[in-house]
Amino acid sequence: MTMTLTETGDSATGGSIMINPCRYRERCVEPCPRLTINPADPPDLSNLSCMRLFRRRDAIVHLVPTAFVAVLCFVGSYHHFLAKGMEALNKTAIQEVTLHTQRLEREIAKFGMLPLAASMNRDVIDYLKGDRTAARDEAVTRILQSLNESAGASQTFVIDATGRVVASSNRGLSDSFIARDLSYRRYVQDAPAGRVEGYYGIGTTTNMPGYYLATAVEESGRRLGTIATKIEFDRLERYWLNGAQRQLVVIDGNGVIVLASRADWKYHVVGKLSAQQQRSFYDTKQYNRATIAPLVWQSITPSVGDRSLLRAGLPGQARDYLTVSAIPPSLSMLLMVLVDPADAQRLALAEAGLIAIAVVLVALGMYIVHEKRLASQEQRFAGEALQATYSRLKAQFEQRSAQLRVANDGLRQEVAERIESERRLRGYQDELLRTENLAVIGELSAGLAHEVNQPLAAMAALSENAERFLQRGDLDTVQFNLSRIGDLIARMATLTGRLRSFARRSDGEITAAPLAPSIESAVTLMSHRLKKDGIEVKSVAPEEPLWACCDNIRLEQVLVNLLSNAIEALADTEEPVIEIRSRLAGDKALIEVADNGTGLSETVKHRLFEPFFTTRKASGLGLGLAISANIINSFDGSLCAENRPQGGALFRITLKAHIA
Ligand code: ADP
Repeated sequence: MTMTLTETGDSATGGSIMINPCRYRERCVEPCPRLTINPADPPDLSNLSCMRLFRRRDAIVHLVPTAFVAVLCFVGSYHHFLAKGMEALNKTAIQEVTLHTQRLEREIAKFGMLPLAASMNRDVIDYLKGDRTAARDEAVTRILQSLNESAGASQTFVIDATGRVVASSNRGLSDSFIARDLSYRRYVQDAPAGRVEGYYGIGTTTNMPGYYLATAVEESGRRLGTIATKIEFDRLERYWLNGAQRQLVVIDGNGVIVLASRADWKYHVVGKLSAQQQRSFYDTKQYNRATIAPLVWQSITPSVGDRSLLRAGLPGQARDYLTVSAIPPSLSMLLMVLVDPADAQRLALAEAGLIAIAVVLVALGMYIVHEKRLASQEQRFAGEALQATYSRLKAQFEQRSAQLRVANDGLRQEVAERIESERRLRGYQDELLRTENLAVIGELSAGLAHEVNQPLAAMAALSENAERFLQRGDLDTVQFNLSRIGDLIARMATLTGRLRSFARRSDGEITAAPLAPSIESAVTLMSHRLKKDGIEVKSVAPEEPLWACCDNIRLEQVLVNLLSNAIEALADTEEPVIEIRSRLAGDKALIEVADNGTGLSETVKHRLFEPFFTTRKASGLGLGLAISANIINSFDGSLCAENRPQGGALFRITLKAHIA
């Protein structure tokens, strides 16, 4: 895997180089938006939805052939293991068939000698030829008995040419066949001379199955009779089935199961019986006229492994079997071993499953190794990309830091300039305040001249009078005049003192101060103008002295300004009144200066506190209220104005009350 270097068109970074560590980059039609947006974060690539989609697709691309190969392996190995399993089963079945055939052969061979030996005996031949004397009869019976006992057979008997039993090893016993007509039996009809043949049959008296080994006795081509030995079939069955591990059946020439390890299969026919066969069974009483029901018996294709199977069993219970069969020559019946292939199938299934799982695991392992290799490469490239991005960002950061430093210096300089401008502005404001105060003082000076002239004139008259009364020796009047002069001087001193304090600069300190003296002082300062214009002043104050946080000198200047504006507004009012009301409202101290003058028009109301706004073009500077509001604001208070319902304006100073 190689990394891709992409030139980003980012003008801010000067067209930096972006490393694309994404392993799927070649599959994308457009440049990766994620990497373009945030190239500094390549490790997060694995969480991108496009990456997840590509990874899922890759996994599917790997998964499909893996699944296909796994299925192929499964099917192939199943067939292989099944064939092997079936082969093994077949081998054991063959061994078993051989073993059972040999056992049966041995057993039958043991009994087969009896009829042959008897058929060659002279007494027996003579007996059959017609010599039925008691001595012969006895001799024959003895021979039969000794032969029978030597092999342990059920009974050995002699049948004459008419099919009637004429001698028997168990003569005199209840199960003896003596005098019975057995001409209907096949072995009586068909038994060959010189050798033994076996016949299966069910006894008509005992209803017990038996195996009859029979041979014909002939002389000069003439059939004299038949010698037969009966073997109890259940004994043979017990002996034969002893130790059988698998399902075994013996099927006779008629297709009838005469011997089976499953008792319920006995006397069932494999395949179908023709009507002729059924009649023959009836006639020969071979199965003692028992009903011969059919058994399911059909071969199955396709085969399992390379063996074909047989479906066998009672109707409704049939199962599949692997079969191995043999025909023992002495028995002339089919001996069959039926093996259940389910175990071999299960085993083959398990082995094939293991093979398929192993294939999947190997494929998975290979895929994981491949993925891990790609992922570690990707991670390495991502790390390198991150490093490159980091270096680029660091350079950008340093460049921006330098720019910021320059900007910062500029800002700092600007701030210093602003502070200087503000300081200068404050100086101008103070200057303006003083100018405004001086304007007020100028206004007041005319009144003050009058105020001062009056006592001066009174003092001149009083001193003149005092001189005259002193010459007359009227000392009491002189003393009275002098004390009047003293009062007038004190009054003048008060007036000038107030004026001086009004004109002086405040130290700007805000303290708790009583409001009443400031109000009183302002009214005193304006008293001449008030008097001159015939304005009545109503002052309402609470009983308890009201204190507030302020600078009383500057508060006095504000009050003088409000009174001065009120006097201006009352110029055309017939009965001019100014009300000064101070009161406590919660934690606030309020001073309201109200007049019954012109009131405030809408325009005036909106621009009242704007600097240089005035309606008195000739005399006003338009700074009084702007400065007053500024002063009150500096006390953390407020100044507002409104029209009174009865006419006129009301200005309200709100201060923080000082409650002792
Ligand atoms: P100046 O007194 O120099 O005009 P001010 O700032 O003190 O400046 O007042 C601004 C304007 O506000 C005045 O010109 C006047 O129109 C109006 N004004 C102030 N006080 C009152 C008042 N009590 N009644 C009516 N108008 C007033």
